[in-house]
Amino acid sequence: MIYLDNAATTAVAPEVRAAMEPYLHDVYGNPSSVHQAGRTARAAIERAREQVAKAIHAKPAEIVFTSGGTEADNAAIIGVMMGNPEKGKHLITTAMEHKAVLTACEWLEKLGCEVTYLSPGADGKVSAEAVAAEIRPDTVLISVMTVNNETGAIQPIQEIAKAAREHGVYFHSDAVQAAGALELDVDLLGVDLLSLSGHKLHGPKGIGALYVRSQIKFAPLLHGGSQERKLRGGTENLPGIVGLGVAIERAVEERADKLAKIRSLRDEMLAAFERELGDTVVTNSPADALPTILNVSFLGVPAERLLMNLDMAGIMAASGSACTSGSLQPSHVLEAMALDEERVRSAIRFSFSGHNTHDEVSTAAEKIVAAVRRLKR
Ligand SMILES: *Cc1c(COP(=O)(O)O)cnc(C)c1O
Repeated sequence: MIYLDNAATTAVAPEVRAAMEPYLHDVYGNPSSVHQAGRTARAAIERAREQVAKAIHAKPAEIVFTSGGTEADNAAIIGVMMGNPEKGKHLITTAMEHKAVLTACEWLEKLGCEVTYLSPGADGKVSAEAVAAEIRPDTVLISVMTVNNETGAIQPIQEIAKAAREHGVYFHSDAVQAAGALELDVDLLGVDLLSLSGHKLHGPKGIGALYVRSQIKFAPLLHGGSQERKLRGGTENLPGIVGLGVAIERAVEERADKLAKIRSLRDEMLAAFERELGDTVVTNSPADALPTILNVSFLGVPAERLLMNLDMAGIMAASGSACTSGSLQPSHVLEAMALDEERVRSAIRFSFSGHNTHDEVSTAAEKIVAAVRRLKR
């Protein structure tokens, strides 16, 4: 089996599993309890909060643990819009966001908010100028992802943040695909809110975090006890939080080495496709995309047929994102880029992690080329 779908999820690293282990049996106190068992659990959560904060150069008090990237996105967008009704009802996002952002925006539209969806260019990027041009007096929030999960396109976050700040508009970025691959410094980036997820960086599923800059008015999504400084009710996912802390700390430590390796894997795969298939393969990821994601179209070969063939050959990849693949819906990201229909229909996403090897990539490339040739006949 060759797993090239790391943008959908990654394997839990052995070190992460080992760190979580005690919190699945020995340490079971409720972090809100004041007795010894509770205090031990509380200490573990606060240690993880420091690890997450350090990874993005934030303060521990600015980190809210969530059930994953989806909840972080929902909490950010709905929380800011609901928390600042006096500022207005308008928000700006892009048509290529993850469904967690898009459907939260659609929900807010049902509640009376107005949303502007900007389309990226054919390079998969939105410009800060295009975002700034949509800012109105009643704009409350801008939400633009750091790295797109289908193309790997890196967005101009610093420039967008500057425009947002100049107009007194809050800025959220979904950094789920960027974390662990790009250096993230919330002050350098200038973001007010940032979403993270554990399972995209070799941590466990069902845990994530939202960075909320201090002083930001923010209404909680989950109402309950006073956990997470009353910003997210519910007894904390103790083993998940410990796992996220260790996973993100490791990701930052190993980032440079891993990224260099992943870049060479990506380059090797793309070179093999171009050498063997010539101009019948088109790259949908921009040249300066994050190398963890390679989106290519094998013209004349429907993506779903190729994926099925690859799956039988033990190679796992995706068309579009995991949440939409299987639905046979064309990718909303590639459609937003206005790529022609044939390119969208035949697009496959290969996504790499530091666990992949050159042997895997050369074997996969060979099998993919053979399958493409077979399906074209
Ligand atoms: C995976 C992903 C999410 C959702 O995170 P979950 O932890 O799976 O809920 C959100 N945004 C992006 C860009 C993602 O890739």
